[in-house]
Amino acid sequence: MVITSLILVVITIIRFIMYNIKSPKAEEFIDHAEILESMEYARSNKSNRQLLEAILQKATEGKGLLHREAATLLECELPDINERVFELARQLKERLYGKRIVMFAPLYLSNYCVNGCIYCPYHAKNKQMPRKKLTQEEIRQEVIALQDMGHKRLALESGEHPNTPIEYILESIKTIYDIKHRNGAIRRVNVNIAATTVENYRKLKNAGIGTYILFQETYHKEHYEQLHPTGPKSNYAYHTEAMDRAMEAGIDDVGLGVLFGLSNYLYDFIGLLMHAEHLEAACGVGPHTISVPRICPADDVDVSDFTNAVPDEIFHKLVAVIRLSVPYTGMIVSTRESQQSREAVLKLGISQISGGSHTTVGGYQVDAPQAETAQFSVSDHRALDEVVGWLLDKGYIPSFCTACYRQGRTGDRFMTLVKTGEIANCCGPNALITLEEYLQDYASPEVKAKGQKLIEAELKYIPNEKVKQKATEFVRSIEKGERDFRF
Ligand code: SF4
Repeated sequence: MVITSLILVVITIIRFIMYNIKSPKAEEFIDHAEILESMEYARSNKSNRQLLEAILQKATEGKGLLHREAATLLECELPDINERVFELARQLKERLYGKRIVMFAPLYLSNYCVNGCIYCPYHAKNKQMPRKKLTQEEIRQEVIALQDMGHKRLALESGEHPNTPIEYILESIKTIYDIKHRNGAIRRVNVNIAATTVENYRKLKNAGIGTYILFQETYHKEHYEQLHPTGPKSNYAYHTEAMDRAMEAGIDDVGLGVLFGLSNYLYDFIGLLMHAEHLEAACGVGPHTISVPRICPADDVDVSDFTNAVPDEIFHKLVAVIRLSVPYTGMIVSTRESQQSREAVLKLGISQISGGSHTTVGGYQVDAPQAETAQFSVSDHRALDEVVGWLLDKGYIPSFCTACYRQGRTGDRFMTLVKTGEIANCCGPNALITLEEYLQDYASPEVKAKGQKLIEAELKYIPNEKVKQKATEFVRSIEKGERDFRF
């Protein structure tokens, strides 16, 4: 064990010598040679039991893994070690996140786009795609529909186009936050728009966004350039360095992600973790969330054109090893995945899911055509109430909490609370309080009955007596019609 620990120390030293983790340049902090060597290292050590045991031991302490260690676990083919990887991911998930699953919905503002991303139907050359940009009044209608479903947290999505300048996005955010319909309110707007300038990120920060999300798609520069032949997004460095600019502008909650299936999964997995390590080293805080989309069918996109498709078995392991590598980073899975697939990965580390989603522009209106303007095909078509009922049946606590961001618990302040375990006094009770709001205002009678039974049982498990008493008072007040309590 001593020798293996020494090996791990040597690996760490080599890693720092090999590439510049703090460099502001994409090609230096996502060093191609370092990724290739890490892939080689992982493949040649995939049956090195002693090393794998030492990596698992490190993961058990909940302090995360470096990209080479994580890659070696990902490549491991020893069945007993793999079973322990899954078991440990399940345990860490339970220990750090309890039974909570945070709910959100995407809101597509516009599908006009100047880019040429070949895996996305919004690409500029797709002439059969009807183009639409929501007016502020249409955004109001969409948001009212989302509020009436029970959503409190949105992810704004938009293509990149002169039609949708930053002013349009800022105006849309203001419109969304201002809508108070019945007991509804959108309390956190996350934003997924194209890479932009520090100045524009500052404007987004001042508009009160939650997380700035930008998927890298692939970290493999050559493949990235083939997949993005035209438009501003074709600039690999500008895109990859976007999170540094967002952080410079004061946005300290950023969300990473790759589109698994575009390139070799191991390459992108290592790149993703190197990106997280870079943000932690250079900006003092790692990513708030990591999303794990897989390529799926859409208009003008044939998945069979992508030969790197990730099968379920590898997808599950990706989720489990990401959970071990960055235990304090939230992990998101969307309705691209089927109910069955989402159920599998919820156990392994996913902490946020979308529900009742439409991936079309204007898709939440009752009479909206549901496929014409979709960015991708939804695999889980269930309404939010069904998803909430399903989560309750599986023993999870659907949470509509947005408290951290509203209480200023973002960036390193949030991470410190999570790492010290203090967050447990907020998240669990906040999940119960916001679930109670959902049940009172939006749930079907069956879901309401199931949810209230769970809330009464869970209130008893809150360890801190004062917090337990306060949370119980909040739940009773919500039953009487009051709203918006939080720790
Ligand atoms: S992925 Fe984004 S930038 Fe690329 S075509 Fe689709 S909407 Fe445009």
